[in-house]
Amino acid sequence: MGENATSSAEAAPAVAELDPPNRTLMGPGPSDVHPRVLRAMSTPLVGHLDPSFVELMDEVQDLLRYTFRTDNEWTIPVSGTGSAAMEAAFGNLVEPGDTVLVPSNGYFGDRMASMARRAGGDVVTVDAPWGEPLDPADVESALAAHDPDVFGFVHAETSTGVLQPDVPVLTEAAHDHDAFVVADTVTSLGGVELRVDDWNVDVAYAGPQKCLSCPPGASPLTLSDEAMAKVLDRETDPRSWYLDLSLLEGYWGDERAYHHTAPITNVYALREALRLVAEEGIEARWERHERLASALKAGVEAMGLAMNAPDAYWLPSLNAVCVPEGVDDGAICDAVLEGYDLEIAGGLGDLAGEIFRIGCMGHAARPENVVLTVTALGDALA
Ligand code: PLP
Repeated sequence: MGENATSSAEAAPAVAELDPPNRTLMGPGPSDVHPRVLRAMSTPLVGHLDPSFVELMDEVQDLLRYTFRTDNEWTIPVSGTGSAAMEAAFGNLVEPGDTVLVPSNGYFGDRMASMARRAGGDVVTVDAPWGEPLDPADVESALAAHDPDVFGFVHAETSTGVLQPDVPVLTEAAHDHDAFVVADTVTSLGGVELRVDDWNVDVAYAGPQKCLSCPPGASPLTLSDEAMAKVLDRETDPRSWYLDLSLLEGYWGDERAYHHTAPITNVYALREALRLVAEEGIEARWERHERLASALKAGVEAMGLAMNAPDAYWLPSLNAVCVPEGVDDGAICDAVLEGYDLEIAGGLGDLAGEIFRIGCMGHAARPENVVLTVTALGDALA
């Protein structure tokens, strides 16, 4: 600190009232929040063990089951962002010495590897280039070669705009090798067809801030009875106390006993976001995402731009559009933010500088947003 500066302990900082810019969020998340969700967040707090809140917890669990398409009893919102639900999945299911097979075709597969390693797992990979899905034949070979205890895959890779097809084929292969399947559904839940029970996914986690259009803070997680049995049979405690599912069972299970103070307002928000899913109907919602993202895709293609993913594994909720030769992606993202109050993003990792990432998620998947995005991008590229 300079000689003449006042320490913040001496003078109260003069900070203005909150006045964030009014952005349209068409990036990789968060997406635009529905006004009903924002209203739910401004309703009065009750205690996290208040009888009214305990009732509301049941409702949230039922709505989550509907959205995940599962009857799993073990379906809860984890306090924290999508990474907390992800860490709850890997940190509980993976025991020291377990072999964990993860994909190497995107940023979030790498995060799976990192979390599985921290849980004491031996990580092996099934490889595919960034921008491509896993080939079931490669998954089968990796399962045969490594005989993993857990196989994780990313259903909707936000870093590449790739939707993993053939999920039931992958889960069947994994189960033939007695591996539990963990699916990252952060960018698919509520926006892209996902059927946890029909597809025999053992564990799935998500984030609320993508196709559910809810602020981050309480993140969906579901586990089958078999996966939960593995968690409850562990020989060692999971390394995280906060995310230990055997302890969280006390709060989200029948007992409803204190473990930590639930983020009440985020649970309110998630409840309202999931009510919107139920009102629309999950299949109608998947169809809307596909219809609006198709319009977006048609618009960018009409401008002469190419999609990075072919139709076979195009991800409607996250559109990866190739950056034209000689164009600075960062400058384009800045221009649409400045000129149109519109958020889109550039690529990450192996696809940095190669793609724009344009979300079409939840409440943001609306005709006016598609028109705005195509107009703004066309203008910035002109
Ligand atoms: N997995 C995927 C596919 C994601 O897109 C994200 C976030 O963008 C995460 C995991 C982590 O979620 P969060 O950033 O909410 O912690």
